[in-house]
Amino acid sequence: MLIDYHIHTKMCGHAEGEMEEYVREAVRKGLGEIGFNDHFPILHIEDTELALRLAMSIDEFPMYVKQVKKLQKEFKKHISIKLGCEIDYLPGNMVGIMNIINKYDFDYLYGSVHFLDDWMIDHPDHESRFKNKDLDKVYKDYFKLVREAAESKLFDCISHIDVIKKFGYKPDSDLTDIYEQTAKALERADMCIEVNTSGLYKPVGEIYPEEKFLKICYEHNVPVTLGSDSHKPEHVGRDFDKAVSLIKKIGYRKIVRFNKRQRSYVNV
Ligand SMILES: [Zn+2]
Ligand SMILES: [Zn+2]
Repeated sequence: MLIDYHIHTKMCGHAEGEMEEYVREAVRKGLGEIGFNDHFPILHIEDTELALRLAMSIDEFPMYVKQVKKLQKEFKKHISIKLGCEIDYLPGNMVGIMNIINKYDFDYLYGSVHFLDDWMIDHPDHESRFKNKDLDKVYKDYFKLVREAAESKLFDCISHIDVIKKFGYKPDSDLTDIYEQTAKALERADMCIEVNTSGLYKPVGEIYPEEKFLKICYEHNVPVTLGSDSHKPEHVGRDFDKAVSLIKKIGYRKIVRFNKRQRSYVNV
């Protein structure tokens, strides 16, 4: 059974289409289960206009939950729909965020690192900041935060774990050691990661995580699930044939499924 747990909505300010269209696309493509996983409101940025281009407002958040629940009922006979949320891991800000999150009964929570201090590392507006940077240090800092996110155990899954490569900036040095340390942290935290196909459409042109990293995760018993990071209805389940052949090549036979933050597995 195929599952796409990474679907955004237009509420985030940078996605298109009605939520129902995403569901219909999933049904059309024969997916067994999907999950809406929209961005949690950005509360730490004072520039409100920017914050609303990154995520919904805090006032809209209950509406998002309500909409997902409505669709769950409407499409019950056709597809299983889960309630998720993509949350930025922001050291020092997590207590307030989790106090809000814990008021709802999410099926799963994704933890993402999109910020290194005020640098939005995967945002096109900030791409130029990669130039003249020590990429070894950038990768070191990024993966340190990813490990912290895993160790925090606040989430069920880490999203697009090597999204730092999105614009194609990679250090010349060997990343094996960073990958090993990160996979070990994920194993200790019993944390799942997603295999995210959206990287194929970014300058880097690769699935997240890259094959070498995914192999190390497999060796450390880190389970995986699948995500398209859809920002348009037609993105749902995009290139899942490629994701499945990659995980099978590495050795995975099952993917993770979530219900009320409990993990189970299904064959792929
Ligand atoms: Zn993301
Ligand atoms: Zn996303």
